[in-house]
Amino acid sequence: MLKIENLTKIYRGGKVAVDKLNLDIQEGEFIAFIGTSGSGKTTALRMINRMVEPTSGKITLDGKDLTKMNAVTLRRSIGYVIQQIGLMPHMTIRDNITLVQKLLKWSKEKKDETASRLIELVNLPQSYLDFYPAQLSGGQQQRIGVLRALAANQDIILMDEPFGALDPITRDTLQDLIKDIQQRLNKTIIFVTHDMDEAIKLADRIAIMHEGKLIQFDTPDNILAAPANDFVKEFIGSHRLIQQKPNVKTVDEVMIKPISITIEKSLDEAIRLMVEKRVDTLFVTDGDNRLQGYLDVESFTGARKTKRSVSECYEKDVFYVKTGSKLQDSVRRILKRNLKNIPVVDDENRLVGLVTRANIVDIVYDTIWGDEEPMVSSEEQNGSEGSKELIGG
Ligand code: ADP
Ligand code: MG
Repeated sequence: MLKIENLTKIYRGGKVAVDKLNLDIQEGEFIAFIGTSGSGKTTALRMINRMVEPTSGKITLDGKDLTKMNAVTLRRSIGYVIQQIGLMPHMTIRDNITLVQKLLKWSKEKKDETASRLIELVNLPQSYLDFYPAQLSGGQQQRIGVLRALAANQDIILMDEPFGALDPITRDTLQDLIKDIQQRLNKTIIFVTHDMDEAIKLADRIAIMHEGKLIQFDTPDNILAAPANDFVKEFIGSHRLIQQKPNVKTVDEVMIKPISITIEKSLDEAIRLMVEKRVDTLFVTDGDNRLQGYLDVESFTGARKTKRSVSECYEKDVFYVKTGSKLQDSVRRILKRNLKNIPVVDDENRLVGLVTRANIVDIVYDTIWGDEEPMVSSEEQNGSEGSKELIGG
């Protein structure tokens, strides 16, 4: 949606504030720019709505060149840089919420309707619209401030350290609120912060800047799991890397050796193997150890009288994960599908391991004690996980 190519800003005097920045931002994404002071975050943000004119490079919004758009059209699509969330004391809450709409010269009806729709998002009564900020508690004022920031009709909202000056508890509450409203209104937000915890909590993707250059641009999970270089590692802080460890474990670290049988064996052999190994599932492989399916007690029901071989009655419908997959995703998959276990295969589909419900219990406890919420904290977005597929069918 928003494409930034080789965006560069050299200030008068020769300071290279932003150096060939490249970013592709999708609709509805929450992007955090993070970096040390002077790394070019504010300059980069301000170039997006042309409060700072780029020296070179290109920004396109849905294919349209922003540098060729007139300022009015541009600001209809891209929000203002909001620096703090303070309200105007002499304006009513209604006028405060629709401040940007007023700047965009919306009609009174449209503004009133917007204000009344939006105040519901922060669970405050309609009657508050006629109040002045001083009549609200500090916390209520801040909620209105966040609402105002997201109320504008633009697709993209730019925010420059909006919570920088707040105490930690207030900041935490407002972070939750902004994320909630952003998702409900499906806004694209580009947000500058110097607080890594804030970036991890809010952002879908984090852009790490250093001396005008983009060092890494990825999801919080990926950055924590694989920092691009020592600068990023140091910037993240070792405590976070450790804290995140349960999250970034891979299936390879916990998988056990699966019991398998090759496809041409007889059912009697399969049953003997299950009894001997005391397992209720056998994975079925071909001569090259490639996963074909599985056999469990249910596959035998009624089959023994008429069928004699594994190939006649194994289940081809098998869920699996690829080696190197994040454990978190596999755990979620096991629980969601109510699977007893999930086989792990390599890139050639060869059976290399098994993650069982039993061996994830430890990890889940670990994770809870580590104060993580693996089941709800991220979406199913990992491209490396396998999917339901018919194998050998
Ligand atoms: P950040 O927001 O990451 O702290 P800035 O974008 O504000 O970084 O600044 C990047 C660099 O550009 C800094 O070295 C800063 O001193 C310089 N800079 C910022 N604005 C100007 C300006 N108007 N003129 C000259 N140099 C500037
Ligand atoms: Mg700044």
